[in-house]
Amino acid sequence: MANTETITRFAPSPTGHLHIGGARTALLCWAQAKANGGKFLLRIEDTDQQRSSQASTRGILEDLAWLGIDWDEGPEMEFEGRTLGGDPRDVGPFYQAQRLELYNKSIRQLIEEGKAYPAFEKPEELEAKRKEAIAAKTGYKYDRSALSIPLDERIARIDAGEDHVVRLRMPDEPITVHDQILGDVTVKPEEFDDFIIRKRDGFPTYHLAVTVDDALMGVTCVVRGQEHLINTPRHIAIQQALGFATPEYAHLPLIFNQDGSKMSKRDKDKTAKKAVRDAKMEHSPISEIGHEDFAGWLRDKTRQLPADRLNELAGVLAIELPEIEVEDFRSAGYLPSALNNYLALLGWNPKTKNEDGTDLEHFGMDYLAGNFSFRGVGSSPSKFDRVKLLSFNGDTIAALSDEAFAKVWHDWSLRHDHGISERFSETDLLTLAPAVKTRCKTLRDGRKVIGFALIHDCDVEFDGKSVHKALIKSDGKGLELLKLFRDQIGSLEDFTPDAIEAMVKCFAESNEVGMGKIAQPVRVAVTGAAVSPALGQTLAILGRDSVVTRIDRCVEHVGAMTNSSNEG
Ligand code: GLU
Repeated sequence: MANTETITRFAPSPTGHLHIGGARTALLCWAQAKANGGKFLLRIEDTDQQRSSQASTRGILEDLAWLGIDWDEGPEMEFEGRTLGGDPRDVGPFYQAQRLELYNKSIRQLIEEGKAYPAFEKPEELEAKRKEAIAAKTGYKYDRSALSIPLDERIARIDAGEDHVVRLRMPDEPITVHDQILGDVTVKPEEFDDFIIRKRDGFPTYHLAVTVDDALMGVTCVVRGQEHLINTPRHIAIQQALGFATPEYAHLPLIFNQDGSKMSKRDKDKTAKKAVRDAKMEHSPISEIGHEDFAGWLRDKTRQLPADRLNELAGVLAIELPEIEVEDFRSAGYLPSALNNYLALLGWNPKTKNEDGTDLEHFGMDYLAGNFSFRGVGSSPSKFDRVKLLSFNGDTIAALSDEAFAKVWHDWSLRHDHGISERFSETDLLTLAPAVKTRCKTLRDGRKVIGFALIHDCDVEFDGKSVHKALIKSDGKGLELLKLFRDQIGSLEDFTPDAIEAMVKCFAESNEVGMGKIAQPVRVAVTGAAVSPALGQTLAILGRDSVVTRIDRCVEHVGAMTNSSNEG
């Protein structure tokens, strides 16, 4: 019986970070496999040795694992207690650079059968013909000169080591792609050219490698971005020539920015250039970028700064660069579940209603795995809606239990915000969780809520209006209460949020004032401002010594203020 198990694959080229569009492709490949009880395979397309790197491969694998898009087959990796990948069907290796022999075997077969042929023209000859065609406005296409060389001579010249490329002899009939999303797409033979399947350097081209691998790895369904649709007739031609079955194809809609432009790494550069211009900054603020380079970069739309320089520049300009790659979203403090939920909707409509009649929008990986189908995928481009994603993320954060929030926040800060991880333990963050998780849309935002606790006691800046309102107004009643409070809080044994709240309540009662009358002076004294998490949490997180030091500093500050205004 034929094996009908669905096998999908994601096949990134490790030439940089994982783009968010790549993550969407991987997610829907995964979903298609799971919804059909099949397997999701990961293959690394590293035949472009110049541009590929191991660091990029590692980053891509890590990003996928972090998102929870676990691959059943492919490079093996341990991630947070899960073992990903492996080769149960013995179809590896999963790195194309390790499969050159397999490609050469297929290419040899095609040459011997006359379905592909070596072409020995020098690059200069081809270039001259291309120029002629452009001048004559006829459009360039390889003229098949090499086809006139007899088969045995072709093979003899290859075996003698003569410089050549190998081209596929394209069929004379049209090729139809039966796409699961776009329907039938037919390309006529006039539009074909005998494209290269092995380059002069002996490496196969993407078209050959991808097609051989999909066949030998038993891939039954190819899910990829619509930008690859143009390649698919070529892949079908290779399958036909090698006698391989054609898998199902599904080309996903492109992802655009809201303004209809392509969502690309370059957007970060554009944002930085604009900010530099707005700030009228003429000299490089970063020592590693010389004046000439800086000016050249600013002038030239196409010139991009390396990622780390760009981040440094963004730091100096105090701007945030748009997130484009999964790593950007990770460091900004998006949660995998919110990202996956949003990415699944980027092109897929579950066409299901909630009980209240609204469209189902919030769902997890289990729902996606159980319900995904190409029927819900549209063909027109999807627009990346950052506001919606942010709101998904905020909702996801707010819905976490305090314990879960403290854990993800702590794990995140270990990787992305050492200021927090060095200052606070997970238990500290648990204390702050109730206040923070409802006030931030990303984990990075959390820093704003607890900024007061991250600064040194002597760096608290007092907001003039808040000081006046809480401490000076009403004949300095607030200041009097604060001084009394300082003496009592200094001797409170149990410095936990609950004990502090109880003490504040007791203090308010014995001084016959409302809670706010004491809470605000204390809050302003320890944070500098009138807004902070609940007072018990605010003080507990600072610790007794800090609270006392900050109150003393504030008392002194107010004293100096009132003295100078009295003198004035
Ligand atoms: N390595 C190709 C890419 O990253 C894969 C294309 C495909 O899925 O066939 O775009």
